[in-house]
Amino acid sequence: MVGGGPAGLGAALGAADAGARVILAERYGFLGGNATAALVMPLMSFHTQRTAFERADGAKLFPTDHGPGEPVVAGALARLLSRLIAAGGAITPGPGTGYVVPFDPELLKLSALELLDEAGVQFLFHAFASGVLADGPLRGAVFETKSGPIVIRARAIVDCTGDGDIAAAAGARVEVGRETDGLVQPMTLMFRMVEFERAGFEAYVREHPDQWRGVHGLWDLIRRAAAEGELDLPREDILFFGTPHAGEVSVNSTRVTGVLGTDVFDWSYAEWRSRVQLRQIVRFLQHRVPGFERAYCAQSGVHAGVRETRRIRGDYRLTADDVLSARQFDDVIARGSYPVDIHNPKGSGTILKRLPEDAAYDIPLRCLLPEGIENLVVAGRCLSGSHEAHSSYRVMPIAMATGQAAGVCAALATHRKIPPRAVPARDVQAELVLQGADLHRAA
Ligand SMILES: Cc1cc2nc3c(=O)[nH]c(=O)nc-3n(C[C@H](O)[C@H](O)[C@H](O)COP(=O)(O)OP(=O)(O)OC[C@H]3O[C@@H](n4cnc5c(N)ncnc54)[C@H](O)[C@@H]3O)c2cc1C
Repeated sequence: MVGGGPAGLGAALGAADAGARVILAERYGFLGGNATAALVMPLMSFHTQRTAFERADGAKLFPTDHGPGEPVVAGALARLLSRLIAAGGAITPGPGTGYVVPFDPELLKLSALELLDEAGVQFLFHAFASGVLADGPLRGAVFETKSGPIVIRARAIVDCTGDGDIAAAAGARVEVGRETDGLVQPMTLMFRMVEFERAGFEAYVREHPDQWRGVHGLWDLIRRAAAEGELDLPREDILFFGTPHAGEVSVNSTRVTGVLGTDVFDWSYAEWRSRVQLRQIVRFLQHRVPGFERAYCAQSGVHAGVRETRRIRGDYRLTADDVLSARQFDDVIARGSYPVDIHNPKGSGTILKRLPEDAAYDIPLRCLLPEGIENLVVAGRCLSGSHEAHSSYRVMPIAMATGQAAGVCAALATHRKIPPRAVPARDVQAELVLQGADLHRAA
């Protein structure tokens, strides 16, 4: 497994539980990927929705437009969540959280480490995959480490790098960004504000009910700050979420457009630009927004969060129509219910397109198999789909589910000494169901 983000956690658990010997290589010294390195919080909803409605009842700090629903992801995600919730590191999703999962990233790092350790996964931290062994079929990957280059040979590799680094190095066909102009969703440096006083903020929202909707707003205050030269943001609102800690919010409001996370020069620019924005937003909150007078930024991401880079071209390419019509596939290996959610690649605004009520879509096994490349399975946000479909399946619960499926497929291929593509989908489904995954009709 390469990459220890949500997809990598699912993949390592899925493969280890299916009996494979698993090495998980990760460029950082901890697990969680965007959830911990980029402080991306909360886990978005993995529930169907019966009714979409807006409750106008004050400052909830969680989405207010998600009606009741049933979970469509279980398996590895459920195991991680039950451990995290028991440790006090997450809140069970439900009407009170708008069906998102607020979590504590430090406790997530620990829970993930324990879970994988107990499953027998071997860790190789501080190992950046920089190439592959592929003179013929793919046979392993090369890692840059403090101890010099390390080669790991494997019968099957699961690419959970988010960026499809292994797939790209192996020569897989990839797509980037919108089909029309190649632009990708913006980067965002997330940060945690602590010593936030909720009562003060709630009083402001009660007096200005048109200025806060669920988890975003403050339009008038932003306009005033911008007019006075204190805020220069390419988005029109401030977005933040509550966390398991009463005095903390997770701020998702910096935005850098026109940058690609697989281009180190772009990413360097984004780090600088987003920190300039972070400073402005922190001051704005402290000086203009009731409840933040004594608050301060306790932590920002290790790096600006990358929403979108490469997507592999797989044996099937999931489309927006598949997502929005809740299409079902015979070779389903994971399900999703999260809307199409595109932060404008050019500036302000976000497009949200929901699935029909009570509906979920299937992700077929073929989306994880890169065209023309053997011994490689891809999971998480870089699996095969269109720009719009990606904006739904990229969220962390779905990434974990596709990861688990990729791990199972790779493990079965290894046992049988066949390429992952030759593993029948029904065998992957059967093992996933044994592992507690929710495949609905296939179960
Ligand atoms: C700003 C922002 C806000 C978001 N908001 C939400 C949200 O509120 N809720 C939600 O559910 N989702 C959200 N998302 C989406 C979500 O975080 C990602 O799409 C998801 O984390 C993808 O999981 P992944 O495992 O595929 O990739 P990642 O989380 O990116 O994990 C990839 C892992 O691979 C490692 N890695 C990468 N390259 C290499 C390499 N070459 N060698 C070794 N290791 C490598 C990385 O260090 C990382 O640990 C957001 C994303 C961003 C950027």
